[in-house]
Amino acid sequence: MSKKQRIRPEFGERVHLEDYDPGYTGEYESKGDAKDALKHNLERIDVLQEVLYAEHKHALLIVFQAMDAGGKDSTIRHVMEGANPQGVQVASFKVPTQEELDHDFLWRIHKHVPGRGMIGIFNRSHYEDVLVVRVDELVPEDVWQARYEHINAFERLLADSGVTILKFFLHISKDEQKERFQDRLDKPDKHWKFSHGDLAVREKWDAYMAAYEDALTRCHTPWAPWHIVPANKKWYRNLVVSGAIVEALEGLDMRYPAPEPDLDKVVIPD
Ligand code: AMP
Ligand code: MG
Repeated sequence: MSKKQRIRPEFGERVHLEDYDPGYTGEYESKGDAKDALKHNLERIDVLQEVLYAEHKHALLIVFQAMDAGGKDSTIRHVMEGANPQGVQVASFKVPTQEELDHDFLWRIHKHVPGRGMIGIFNRSHYEDVLVVRVDELVPEDVWQARYEHINAFERLLADSGVTILKFFLHISKDEQKERFQDRLDKPDKHWKFSHGDLAVREKWDAYMAAYEDALTRCHTPWAPWHIVPANKKWYRNLVVSGAIVEALEGLDMRYPAPEPDLDKVVIPD
């Protein structure tokens, strides 16, 4: 078995992704091994989400970033499997519209931040503005360089306002991406997930890894920590993500709101 690998980097430490094995599965050897632990996490999420919603005090923001075919959609589907849809909102961030580009880069993000009682999920996020935007040189370097601080300040504002933030980088290997792309090409019902542009992005793999390392280093804060999720094995990925969500929700020490008085004396008329 490989040596124990961190999921959360140390604060202040420079992240080198080659130190993080995307195929790592911790103490588990197979999907079957991890089945009970995953089931437990998903059940806990369902219960805790209900209290979050009822208490109406905290919000949870979950950010997913990954290379194409990294498993963002599938993780969201699995981890929120039993959650009450009324309490969950998902925002997917695509190429910005002209109106969005006419504003600061956080404008379109801020409106999707979950309110009290809600779980908000970002499928891609403001991090695209220091990833694709940096790699493709969509803005000058001084503009994207300033964004790491903007992001930290923005996330601090959210945290100070009662939003718990969890950020997940689903880390797959370049070989694993190739296999998943091939699968998308081989199966007609997966064709919709493939675009020729995905190969152009794949060609820039190393530039993306460098950009990810910077984001994972410079925006890893106690109020909005990153998790580097070994994501070659989908079952381990789901286990890690669900485990971190359970831990964060349990840390909130939530309670159901106090009931109205004298419920024990209520008689329901026929
Ligand atoms: P998908 O998630 O596969 O539907 O693709 C969404 C696309 O939008 C990806 O290619 C992202 O890189 C791109 N995208 C998301 N946010 C931005 C942004 N701020 N600037 C440029 N491209 C973006
Ligand atoms: Mg895509």
